[in-house]
Amino acid sequence: MRFISGIQPSGNITLGNYLGALKNFVKLQDKEEFTDFLVFIADLHAITVPQEKETLRKNIKSLVALYLACGLDPNKAHIFIQSEVPAHAELGWVMMCNGYIGELERMTQYKDKKEKQVQGVSAGLLTYPSLMAADILLYDADVVPVGIDQKQHLELTRDLANRFNQKYGETFVIPEPFIPEAGAKIMSLTDPTKKMSKSDANPKAYISLLDDINVINKKIKSAVTDSDGKIKYDLENKPGVSNLLTILSCVTGVSIKDLEEKYKDSNYQSFKEDVASAVVSEIKPIQEKYKELINSKLIDKVLDDGRDYANYLANKKINKVYNKIGLGRKR
Ligand code: ATP
Ligand code: MG
Repeated sequence: MRFISGIQPSGNITLGNYLGALKNFVKLQDKEEFTDFLVFIADLHAITVPQEKETLRKNIKSLVALYLACGLDPNKAHIFIQSEVPAHAELGWVMMCNGYIGELERMTQYKDKKEKQVQGVSAGLLTYPSLMAADILLYDADVVPVGIDQKQHLELTRDLANRFNQKYGETFVIPEPFIPEAGAKIMSLTDPTKKMSKSDANPKAYISLLDDINVINKKIKSAVTDSDGKIKYDLENKPGVSNLLTILSCVTGVSIKDLEEKYKDSNYQSFKEDVASAVVSEIKPIQEKYKELINSKLIDKVLDDGRDYANYLANKKINKVYNKIGLGRKR
């Protein structure tokens, strides 16, 4: 079985990316059923919205160091940069030509991100899911772990794969989504009805894994809650408190039910202090490892190996796809 997932270098990765994605990758890399475990840096996806050159380069490197600092093991996982494997963009184009504008326009991520653009909406923001489909289908990945925010894109990937298979004959494996039970969606600290995103314009909305410890404490202490004063999980009426309960539960492994019981006589202030200290004790060791890694030679070594292996797999697949469609000369 093959596993694939990626994160965009569109900022520093957040507690949401960590709890919703990265932490699970680290657990899953040990499973023997995965013959290939691939994790990439989705830099082609990141340019669907404007990126500053130096910042993008810095974020790419930083994301690799964070993958390793969070526990991804290069002996188990192939780590690579999406733009260093040209078949992603090539199959992305093919997917674009097999998808419909109508189905792309229905994607909620497109609708949300479109609203935030001040310099115009790029065509890439609309066709993003075609590239994401390519990322997955290139490797015949069976299992794709995603946060709930990406579930709709994965469903579209399945539709595109089925459509292609029907039109051109059996080519792609139909991927299954894997959505972790807890922590599937961590919400913004300033508006708990919206998801936490690393590209949020307001840094108070998210916790970055590279935030200063003091900053993490402050952000959690000023997280938006409500005036009811009770620590209870109620997504509709108490989204802020519910989000903090989710975070605490994901970090400590204690169930939300047990946490409600533990904090039934507490106030928000002491509850938030506990959330902050649990988050800090999770993030601190990651930051220490990150500092050791960010300037080490290991990063390039890991990326070179990952690039070569991913190109080997991806080129086999893209040749097959081009032959099925009748592109170029027979390869
Ligand atoms: P951007 O704002 O640039 O889209 P992002 O924070 O949404 O950044 P992505 O790179 O789009 O991060 O997603 C990386 C992975 O993290 C995906 O698997 C996605 O499902 C997951 N993820 C993103 N945000 C959250 C969140 N708030 N809670 C849980 N998982 C999340
Ligand atoms: Mg996103």
